[in-house]
Amino acid sequence: MNQYNIPKLQRKLKKELDEDRYRHTLGVMYTSAALAMCYGADLEKAQTAGLLHDCAKCIPNEKKIRLCQKHQIPISRVEQGAPFLLHSKLGAYLARTKYEVEDEEILEAIVWHTTGKPEMSLLEKIVFLADYIEPMRWKASNLEEIRRMAFQNLDRAVYMTLRDTLEYLEKGSGEVDEMTRNAYRYYAKLCGESEAGDAEAFCHVQSEK
Ligand code: FE
Ligand code: FE
Repeated sequence: MNQYNIPKLQRKLKKELDEDRYRHTLGVMYTSAALAMCYGADLEKAQTAGLLHDCAKCIPNEKKIRLCQKHQIPISRVEQGAPFLLHSKLGAYLARTKYEVEDEEILEAIVWHTTGKPEMSLLEKIVFLADYIEPMRWKASNLEEIRRMAFQNLDRAVYMTLRDTLEYLEKGSGEVDEMTRNAYRYYAKLCGESEAGDAEAFCHVQSEK
């Protein structure tokens, strides 16, 4: 059943994103589809979620905040300081209202694609990972290894992505969303990684800053 008109969504989206973001978006859509094939997820949902995951990304930050306020989307303290994070929640809102996607699974996958969270659904894991490994990406560390792992052990690839994301964010000046740390702890434990202990220590250090 073709519930979503993907070419139509693409045309609409292309007008809202800059060229690089649009290409990234297509990369995430195709990578989500490949992962869905590998793990038996719904192909159409995976493509739709991948395609729309960054639909709010190119809205200027002040406007992101204004739109969230206007539509009663709560803004956390971390998001107030780093409004680009709002593109996830706002993206899910726009996916529902502007792109007419009603499927909760797709909308949730859009909501959690930036921070991740503990106990993600299959679709959430697919979009989270596809965002990190799509072919246009080149800067992140251990990409080659994570790309291979993504098609062998999804949870382990999610764990590796969260680990590297936290490591990267830790070097920067901005705050880290608590949900990313929670997700990291959950997937480290799930994968039997001892680094979970290090993460606790790391979080402790962070909170003392
Ligand atoms: Fe994003
Ligand atoms: Fe993205």
